[in-house]
Amino acid sequence: MSGTPPRPRRFPASMPTTGGTPQDRLLRPQAHLHQIERERRVQSVPQGVGLDSPRVRQKMVERLKADGISHPSVLDAFLQVPRHLFVDTALVNQAYEDTSLPIGLGQTISKPSVVAAMMQLLCARPGLGALGGPGSGFRPDRPLGPCLEIGTGCGYQAALLACLATRVVSIERIRELHVKARQHLDAVAPLMGRSLMDVRLVHGDGMLGHAPSAPYHTIIAAAGGAAVPPAWLDQLAPGGRLVAPVAVSGGTQVLTVIDRLADGSLKHAQAGVVLFVPLKSGLS
Ligand code: SAH
Repeated sequence: MSGTPPRPRRFPASMPTTGGTPQDRLLRPQAHLHQIERERRVQSVPQGVGLDSPRVRQKMVERLKADGISHPSVLDAFLQVPRHLFVDTALVNQAYEDTSLPIGLGQTISKPSVVAAMMQLLCARPGLGALGGPGSGFRPDRPLGPCLEIGTGCGYQAALLACLATRVVSIERIRELHVKARQHLDAVAPLMGRSLMDVRLVHGDGMLGHAPSAPYHTIIAAAGGAAVPPAWLDQLAPGGRLVAPVAVSGGTQVLTVIDRLADGSLKHAQAGVVLFVPLKSGLS
């Protein structure tokens, strides 16, 4: 791709935009800190409502609905997972705003509306119908099936995915974040019951995927590289879908959706301009 960046477009589900100026309309799951501060001033958590209250999360869910998120399981996951337990104490008051937040080591927790849109894209994959036959092991209440996440970060998205997947493998290249994510998930597990039981966190280079647990029905990346690593495609099951930011010209990233069709071939599509942290190789 070259020339002007593609405008966000609707495919196949409607993607949220952030509104405001054209620049603000980019999906910005990992906005820069000055952007986060600007957004902090215009949004606020309801006053007088404790962060443990489901009402705070309900308000976030209403905002996601207004942004075009309609899949009931996706909305329910956002209702269940206590985002404030995944961020530093200094930031808890911003935990339910539609903004990315710093999680240390130069990384950020992704913006809820973008995570929700990506999860909805995974739930809406055309191959889903073909997976539901007798003896297939497919569970309608777990539409993501076996899921691979690249970029665990603080573990928030892994917890959301766990509500919709039969099992989650999540890879993080920074050991400190990998350890922190485990602590976060262990802390919220008792609050969330069975949902979080099958999350496997791996400290590794996500560019290699995780072959021992492949194939995956769904693959989601929280960091964007110059291309989709071949290992992810190798590990994507027939009927499966991958959603990942991929860099195009001039540093622009496009949310790329790849379906592996029943005959094994791949179908590519794009779902809007995004801004994620870079996908890096190697460990730290
Ligand atoms: N889903 C996360 C978002 C984390 S930001 C959350 O909910 O918090 C993206 C993460 O991708 C960063 O933590 C970064 O370290 C990680 N990352 C970047 N390249 C990676 C790679 N090759 N393998 C694994 N993780 C990677």
